[in-house]
Amino acid sequence: MRHCRCRSVLLCLVLAGMFVAVTPAQDTSPERHVNSQRLHAALVSLSEYGRNPDGGVTRLGYSETDLAAREYVIGLMKGAGLSVRIDPAGNIFGHRDGSERLPVILFGSHIDSVLHGGNYDGDVGSLGAIEVIRALNESSTRTRHPLEVVIWTNEEGNHFGVGTLGSGIAAGLIGPEIISRKDDTGVTFADWLRRYGQDPAKLSDARIPQGRLAASLELHIEQGPYLYEKKVPIGVVQGIVAVGRWNCIVSGSANHAGTTPMNRRHSALLAASKDVLAVRDVVLSETGTQVGNVGFMKVEPGAPNVIPGRAEFPVELRDLDDARVVRMWEHVEERFRQIDKEEGVDTRCESTDDVKSARATPAIQAAIREAAESAGLASVDLPSFAGQDSQNIANIAPMGMIFVPSKDGISHSPREYSAPEDIANGAEVLYRAVLLLDRRLNP
Ligand SMILES: [Zn+2]
Repeated sequence: MRHCRCRSVLLCLVLAGMFVAVTPAQDTSPERHVNSQRLHAALVSLSEYGRNPDGGVTRLGYSETDLAAREYVIGLMKGAGLSVRIDPAGNIFGHRDGSERLPVILFGSHIDSVLHGGNYDGDVGSLGAIEVIRALNESSTRTRHPLEVVIWTNEEGNHFGVGTLGSGIAAGLIGPEIISRKDDTGVTFADWLRRYGQDPAKLSDARIPQGRLAASLELHIEQGPYLYEKKVPIGVVQGIVAVGRWNCIVSGSANHAGTTPMNRRHSALLAASKDVLAVRDVVLSETGTQVGNVGFMKVEPGAPNVIPGRAEFPVELRDLDDARVVRMWEHVEERFRQIDKEEGVDTRCESTDDVKSARATPAIQAAIREAAESAGLASVDLPSFAGQDSQNIANIAPMGMIFVPSKDGISHSPREYSAPEDIANGAEVLYRAVLLLDRRLNP
């Protein structure tokens, strides 16, 4: 979908609803630099590694399947003339020299998946980055800045239970204590690093110092429904949302479910059920794109003839605005106190996770927006509600992300799908954004 379906800015704004701005497409059909068929063929080849019979892939970070897929991707990088280096965390970097002594413009994504994941999350940005290098080679385009394609390791964190692991180590957010962590089979992270040809004792050498990167860009599928539903081909990511998580325990009193009159019951499950509804009410009480979830509930003692004495559940709240997450939690707690009184129970919650939002750098957002416009593609600003490697890199470098539509907003599923044309659009915008930043940064 090269042209915006909504030709007037006003209509775009109405369609886009909550988003800040929509940049309309131009009516010209500018030339394309990236090769859509070649990029698609690479995605199909990568999908063979860890392919599941029911579609999609299982390609966990730090696994034999991941190792094989990495060899394939390293082969593509070398074929594109990149000099390949692997850091002590297993992150892969493919380097292309610049014409000046300047910091690196970095772009890429990850190729690991969740259990029973799809073929687009991470793969699109990884292979899209290599396609950008191939396109630059074909047009004999030199850049002032050195360019590096990066493949971050274990973004999904389904192995070792830590998400965005490779980029977290590179950004200095995860320290060397991680090497003794064991997976479900008792194998340590250090063991897996050795299998990846790395020396675990040198893990801290993976840290990227401030100033080494001029900019970091990541092309990624949206994993949500907005671009697909609004029929806008390019998302300019405003930032990665803050995530607050709390674990709550409701203490009531277990008692005989037959002999206890209704007015003398203190059911922990009944109160917790009202709590779940209260979370949704609080999230919906403000306009905006904030979200909240209660993901599970453990109830004790768990018998049909016993009034539940204890219920435990997590609350998760996400928004681009850190202050809104704090404010929503305050309101949730207020409601919980009220429900405690109504049901005669006691609810205690403690914070288990407090991830601050990571804002994309305005100059990089502007370059992505302009790159889309120059390619004749409409774009819209939106947050990433999913965690990303780029949120770690925002701590050490100016950062930006490009989103392309996910069919029906489905991700982390074999049904995940992005159309080849949409993927090529994203890679073209990445190509143009890299060149814009190469001209603008460090003048
Ligand atoms: Zn991803």
